[in-house]
Amino acid sequence: MTRKTRVRFAPSPTGPLHMGGVRTALYNYLFAKQRGGDFIIRIEDTDSQRFVPGAEKYIIEALNWCGIVPDEGVDAAGNVVETASERHPHAPYRQSQRKPIYRQYAEQLVENGFAYYAFDTAEELGAKRAEMEANGQTFIYGQTTRMGLRNSLAMPEAEVKELLETRTDWTIRFKMPENRVVKMDDLIRGHVEVNTSTLDDKVLWKRADELPTYHLANIVDDHLMEITEVIRGEEWLPSLPLHYLLYEAFGWTDTQPRFAHLSLLLKPDGKGKLSKRDGDRLGFPVFPLQWVNSEGEVSRGYREDGYFPEAFVNLLAMLGWNPGTEQELFTLEELVETFSLERVIKSGARFNADKAKWYNKEYLRKKSVGELTDLYMPILESKGITATREYVEKVVGLIQERATFVADFWDIASYLFVAPTEFVEKDVAKFWKEENYTLALQAADFIMNFEGEFTPEGLGAPLEEYIRGNEWPMGKVMNCLRLAMVGGSNGLGIADIVTLIGKEEFAKRIEYIKSKLC
Ligand code: GLU
Repeated sequence: MTRKTRVRFAPSPTGPLHMGGVRTALYNYLFAKQRGGDFIIRIEDTDSQRFVPGAEKYIIEALNWCGIVPDEGVDAAGNVVETASERHPHAPYRQSQRKPIYRQYAEQLVENGFAYYAFDTAEELGAKRAEMEANGQTFIYGQTTRMGLRNSLAMPEAEVKELLETRTDWTIRFKMPENRVVKMDDLIRGHVEVNTSTLDDKVLWKRADELPTYHLANIVDDHLMEITEVIRGEEWLPSLPLHYLLYEAFGWTDTQPRFAHLSLLLKPDGKGKLSKRDGDRLGFPVFPLQWVNSEGEVSRGYREDGYFPEAFVNLLAMLGWNPGTEQELFTLEELVETFSLERVIKSGARFNADKAKWYNKEYLRKKSVGELTDLYMPILESKGITATREYVEKVVGLIQERATFVADFWDIASYLFVAPTEFVEKDVAKFWKEENYTLALQAADFIMNFEGEFTPEGLGAPLEEYIRGNEWPMGKVMNCLRLAMVGGSNGLGIADIVTLIGKEEFAKRIEYIKSKLC
């Protein structure tokens, strides 16, 4: 029987989600949706020492912003989302709330000889480690050392029984088989084999907090939640032999998920993993949303930096995957159709900040003037600018092609809302010469007296004809007018500017520059 595709994104709420984590969630989501399957979010919060308040909410909000919405999991308010499993519920989705589930599984492994109780204290283990290191050896709790340590394999049964009852700091460890070759398959990396001789006996469950460790909780939950594929970061590849052996020990190999380990996102120079600290250091965000830590330090987010979620999703999708064609722009729906794990690259994907901006510019170009106006109006309001929507729409229409972010609109054309009070010195030196500005002032009169249609098209050609007809230098005259309108020589066409700001404002600006520079 073929099973319904069910994949999960399983973040630990130990801090904000790095963009690499969002990519993992995205690939899971695309994989599930392409197959009509379920995408599940499971919060792996069994490590209370690394728990960071607010991180879970942040993660869910970040995924929501990207449009990566789960069929099962938790929402940003912390409520259970379970649209996919009405007839077969899998909640809760937070491992801390699943606490009572895990112990029986750990005990089952002990009973069947796949795990054992360990009583060594942290001090005892520290002393053992120090002793071995002094002899130039490295300590691992495993096949070569376990019989010399304090556990149920090495100690008499009666003592074990007593310690289990009297102490509350014991653990259950996996008994790594000796000298076995674990044969594994990865959907991205292909066949992998590892000999167990170098692997340690990982702790699976802790009596102290009655909580499982990552490995046990992850395998038990993937099984109970009927996960069919595990798509996750390559940092989990070293754990894969243990995970295979756990499925085997539980007798769950028939329904064991298939695995796909994604390569890392690399720094722009390709040297090493893109880390949480790189963004602020190298001048781009590494987090989807802004994050403020407990010390009040702010890390940039793509959302607050002005990226559109569609652009962010698109650029993430292309970091490590390609469609095999020249196409670079994909909506989420198109990605669902096109994505395949077969085309995910094995090597690390290098992040390119310029390319990220390029994506945003492309998406900005595709937006409607109305949508961009909605986004720009509040920015104008925050600057104390009052302008009609109709006016702002005209401005946006004129400058949309030049901007990468909506916030650029202001830098590109603030002069369409406020008159310049200063003039760029080098432009003044270059253009504001008497022989030019006397002509420009005559051209200004032409504009003031112009009686045709006062639109960019209506005014543009007659103005140019007038200047050309007089055999005046077009560039110099226009740049003098632009200086008056903009404060510098960079800006939109004169006809565009004056027909927007209107004759009255135009005249004021001409008078102002005359008062300052003539
Ligand atoms: N909780 C793990 C993490 O934070 C999940 C790894 C997995 O997907 O198995 O990355």
